[in-house]
Amino acid sequence: MTIETNTVVSVSYHLTSKNSGETTESLVEKTKPGDPFVFLLGNGGLIEGFEKNLRGKKVGDKFDFYVPAEQGYGNIELENIVNIPANVFHDDKGKIDYEMVKVGKTLPMTDNEGNRMQGKVREVTGEHVRMDFNHPLAGQELHFVGEVLEIRAATAEELAHGHVHGPGGHHH
Ligand code: ZN
Repeated sequence: MTIETNTVVSVSYHLTSKNSGETTESLVEKTKPGDPFVFLLGNGGLIEGFEKNLRGKKVGDKFDFYVPAEQGYGNIELENIVNIPANVFHDDKGKIDYEMVKVGKTLPMTDNEGNRMQGKVREVTGEHVRMDFNHPLAGQELHFVGEVLEIRAATAEELAHGHVHGPGGHHH
């Protein structure tokens, strides 16, 4: 069996990333022994470059590939970096908690439509807080190294739900 649309795949991998043009990669995440990454291929839940490079592989195949930002988490979009009025961050005493709202910190935010998002603080002034809502891996070239551990056909129920059930997936 090979990895194709509507298969459930288990892989072990480690992911490093770097800014394009740089040579030093830093570790983003890695799977632990006995706890692989399990995914349903072809439902749009994976980054394009990851899916593309795994298609056609078999159990036991090792992989080592790079994914440019355009096929990963996208480029950094300047329109995702915005100034938010400082009073949005006021606590009930009308003050900003500068321990929380601090350059480099990631804060949970909610947009006008109630969507939750994570933003990174870029700058804090008396008037505004500059927040970056780009994905933390936007603009990064990704490097995946790993091995295909298991491949099976997705069940009808998994296809209907659009996610994996059982080990490594949803339990419900
Ligand atoms: Zn389900």
